[in-house]
This record gives sequence, structure tokens and C-alpha cells, in this order.
Amino acid sequence: HTAKRRVVVDKESHQPVSIALEVAAHYNARPQLGVEKRQESTIFHLRSFNNWIKSVLIGMHTKRDDKVLDLGCGKGGDLRKWAKAGIAELVGMDIAEISIKQARERYEAMPNARFKARFYAQDCFSISIKRTIQPQEYRANVVSMQFCMHYAFETERKARTMLQNVTEHLEVGGAFIGTIPDAYWLVKKLRSLKGNELEFGNSVYKVRFEQKDRWPVFGHMYWFTLHDAIDDCPEYLVHFPTFRRLATEYGLELLYRIPLHQYYVDALRRDPQYIELLYRMGVIDRDGKGPSIDEWEVSGLYLAFAFKKVREWVPDTTT
Ligand code: SAM
Repeated sequence: HTAKRRVVVDKESHQPVSIALEVAAHYNARPQLGVEKRQESTIFHLRSFNNWIKSVLIGMHTKRDDKVLDLGCGKGGDLRKWAKAGIAELVGMDIAEISIKQARERYEAMPNARFKARFYAQDCFSISIKRTIQPQEYRANVVSMQFCMHYAFETERKARTMLQNVTEHLEVGGAFIGTIPDAYWLVKKLRSLKGNELEFGNSVYKVRFEQKDRWPVFGHMYWFTLHDAIDDCPEYLVHFPTFRRLATEYGLELLYRIPLHQYYVDALRRDPQYIELLYRMGVIDRDGKGPSIDEWEVSGLYLAFAFKKVREWVPDTTT
């Protein structure tokens, strides 16, 4: 069970060398699949489920004519969800240049898009996005970070830069929403392994930790593989109490943190229209086939969160 790869450590500082570029290279290299290829994929129903979750989340927190900032927007997979929500404006950012190019092309190919959109290739966790966003004082009603915020938990500094980027471009009263792997779920799985075992998974995913003796709040890395989507990519546990505490410092108050299986049950109980949406989005086929047991297990690995910006954040200039 020795790890296949190790985090590169800087010889002088003994700190892990940032893997942001490795992550970007990883996502840049993923081909954009056409509809047919997507339908053939073994994780077709899982992708559809994740899209369904994002649609519900976006629908819950977005109003007509909202301005939206989508950080880590990838190839623009949520463009149609934003269109459906009737937003007025979208700013999409992602560290992976090729993904941003594809997102822009996807937007330009949208028939009668009723919202304006612009896209930037930009690291959103290591540097301020202020200089990129025009105008600098741009304020969104919703900041969305889907399946990407955990990459910021490599260091406290990155997590803080990410939160500063969120709060500086979100109006008071606005929502900060996202989806991330559930660290409790991952740690529970890791702790259930015998002896020196560090790896678990099923036919569609694999998680490999490098050790289970230390539990750092930041930089707790594991390698993640999702069949047909993510190939041994380094990711970080998000220690949610720490995330929540830091977010409070930036004027963001937690509304909820809900594992996706629970989110699914709650949404269906709340509004039967979401049942029809399950079929429309391909989570369940018309012949009744849905996610496999293995796909369902992976979907339980994630959680959804929402924060509300409750007060203006003022940078601390005393330190
Ligand atoms: N949000 C999209 C979605 O839901 O389809 C993409 C999710 S994909 C799993 C994770 C994304 O996070 C990738 O597009 C990756 O390039 C982006 N990402 C990782 N680190 C980043 C960083 N430092 N700044 C901006 N984007 C980053």
C-alpha cells in the first residue's frame, strides 16, 4: 500500500510545492465529451445526479436578473442551469485555460442566451481576482463554487484568499453556494480500514490517503480517481468547522451544510416538481434505470453548503 506518488516538498521551506498547476493540467487534459459519449459513460447517472443537485441548489438561491460569479466554473457545464434561473450576468473563472476556452465557446453557441457572460482563466485561490474582474468593485448576488473549493484547502493562506475573493465580490445579503467532498464521510471510511490500509473505493471511484497518523486542518491530502472523469488527482479534506469559522471572519454566515443524499431526499419532499426534473435530466431513464449502487455510493461522498453574506468585510490592516 505504498503511495504511487508523493507530494513534492520544497527543499528549503520543507513546504509542499503548490499542486495548483498539476490540478489545472489535469482538468485541461480532460476531453470535452459529446452527448453520445456522455451517455455511454459508466458514470452517466452520477453526472446527471450531480447536475440535478446543482440545478436544485442554483434554483434555490438565485433570483431572476441576478449577477453570478462562478469560481472554478470548468468547461461551463452549469451554463444552462444559470440560463434557466433567468440570471442577467455571469462571470466565470477557472485556473484551467482550455476549460475556460471551452466554456466561452459553449456560451457563444447557446441559442438566444438571455444573459451576458465573460470568462477568465485565473487562479482563484492563490491571488486576488480583483484585477481580473472588471470593474474591480464588481458585486454578484450569488457566488457559486461547484466541486472545486476543496482544492483551496491545501493551505490556510489559500483558503483565506479564496474567501477574500468570494466576499469582496458578493453583495451583503447575497449567497455563497457550493459542493465539496464530505471530509467526515472520507475520514470515517479511512478509519474503518484495517492495519496499514490507506485505500478504498468501488468500481467507479478510488480514494488513496498517504498516511493516517496525522490529521492536519489544512493540506490533508488524498488522491482521487473517478472512472471516466478524474484520474488520480490530489485533493484536500475540508475541515468544515474550520471552513465555517474562517468564513465567519469574512462576513459569511452558514445557512446549511447537507450531504447530497440528504439534500436529494429533502428536495423531493419539499417540491414534487424535482421528481420530474430527475427524469428530464437523465438521473432516471424513462425505463426506470437510475444510478448503480457504486455510483450512488460516490454521490454520497459529497455535500452541499450555503452561506449568506451578513456584513461587509473589512481587511485587517493592523498586521
Ligand atoms: N464547477 C465545474 C462543474 O461543476 O462542472 C467544474 C468542477 S471540476 C470537478 C473542478 C474545477 O476546479 C476544475 O475546472 C479546476 O480547473 C478548477 N480549479 C482547481 N483549482 C483552481 C484554482 N486554484 N482556481 C480556479 N479554479 C480551480
